[in-house]
Amino acid sequence: MVLIDQIRAAGVVGAGGGGFPAHVKVASRADTIIANGAECEPLLHKDAAVLEHRADEVVQGILLCAEAIGAGEIVIAIKAKKEKAVAAARAACAGTRARVHLLDDYYPAGDEYDLVYNITGRLIPPAGLPVHVRAVVQNVETLANIAAAAAGRSVTRKCITIAGAVAHPATFEVPLGISLRACIEAAGGATVPDPVLAVGGMMMGEIVTDPDRPVTKTTAGAIVLPARHPVIGRKQKPPREQAAIGKSACDQCRYCTEFCPRYLLGYAVEPHQVMRALGFTATGTAHFSEWAALCCSCGLCTLYACPEMLYPKEACDDSKALLRKLDWKWNGPREVTVHPMHDGRRVPIKSLLSRLSIEDYDHPAPLAANPLTTRRALLPLKQHAGPPALASVKAGQQVAAGEVVAAPAPDALGALLHAPFAARVESVGTTEIALSAL
Ligand code: SF4
Ligand code: SF4
Repeated sequence: MVLIDQIRAAGVVGAGGGGFPAHVKVASRADTIIANGAECEPLLHKDAAVLEHRADEVVQGILLCAEAIGAGEIVIAIKAKKEKAVAAARAACAGTRARVHLLDDYYPAGDEYDLVYNITGRLIPPAGLPVHVRAVVQNVETLANIAAAAAGRSVTRKCITIAGAVAHPATFEVPLGISLRACIEAAGGATVPDPVLAVGGMMMGEIVTDPDRPVTKTTAGAIVLPARHPVIGRKQKPPREQAAIGKSACDQCRYCTEFCPRYLLGYAVEPHQVMRALGFTATGTAHFSEWAALCCSCGLCTLYACPEMLYPKEACDDSKALLRKLDWKWNGPREVTVHPMHDGRRVPIKSLLSRLSIEDYDHPAPLAANPLTTRRALLPLKQHAGPPALASVKAGQQVAAGEVVAAPAPDALGALLHAPFAARVESVGTTEIALSAL
């Protein structure tokens, strides 16, 4: 079997959070491949743990991909501060064509536009992809999963960090479908009476109040925080209120734009203009501004830059959703010129930790010695970019570990889903499959 078929058969998707089916990227042609180990979401350490403990597989995965896409430049990007991960990656690269590229400790170093520019000096065209400048970017865990796929092993496990208000912050290897509750218990339990989770991180993650939410192929981790934490409070404010406050309180100071990493790279993203658009609509009704189209939803404008604690990122998200509905295509400037303050205005993670009021939770979260196990797994049918997969099993049926339980519709973007352990199918719903261990 060729690599692309092995990756498809193993159900590998972008493990950094995007969930893009990995076989699609491996079908590209490019001269550069980059392993994204930047991991800039504060408090998450799972990519560093993957590099520390699976560096040989990451390097093997990137070399296989490089051969498939024709890339001569093979780069593993890691923050210099992750010293053990850097050492492991360097040792694994020895004697190969792969090399390690060290990143400074700023947010969002892992944004593909920023990463590709940082490593190649090339600027992705507006609304384009890395492949448009002959580069392919894959998360480090995705690459380790690609190496496993080449050896015939499917994706049935995930590496996640549990951090924040827990007794023992740690990174775990877990079966897909395990509950976050079980992972939090393995981290010694929550240390606050009213825990709320930022799943996927504080900046770009989702606020989750249900700890029984399962781990999927794209879960990078969960930050446990008290419900009264200021960032949780801000993120839980209803969208209508966010828009109403923005409409009345934005003084057009431009801080959101001046700190926007896409604006600083030279793209036409100006969140203060998006906020201005709020003023021309009835509160809470549809509005859009093309100044949001190239926003990467990093959250810096809302959670770091805005002195009024407003919601420019959320206004950009609303605008982008409307632009997508209208099937609007980028027709703005094609030329990109890096802002002279690009390097000087980067946001150090230390400053971000302080602004997010989470410095007290900034602890190492090393990989636990033993992988977690579970007797029950809940497998959402959508764990990838594209439409949900279709269940290929029925309630009551027995499945072997690694057996396919759902597949994308013919010709649809998606990935196969496999049973993480030998199990009986408890139920098959419209959105998920429940399994009980045999
Ligand atoms: S930083 Fe805040 S107040 Fe200033 S323009 Fe942006 S949204 Fe408005
Ligand atoms: S979320 Fe805000 S800071 Fe980030 S890219 Fe979008 S507009 Fe810029």
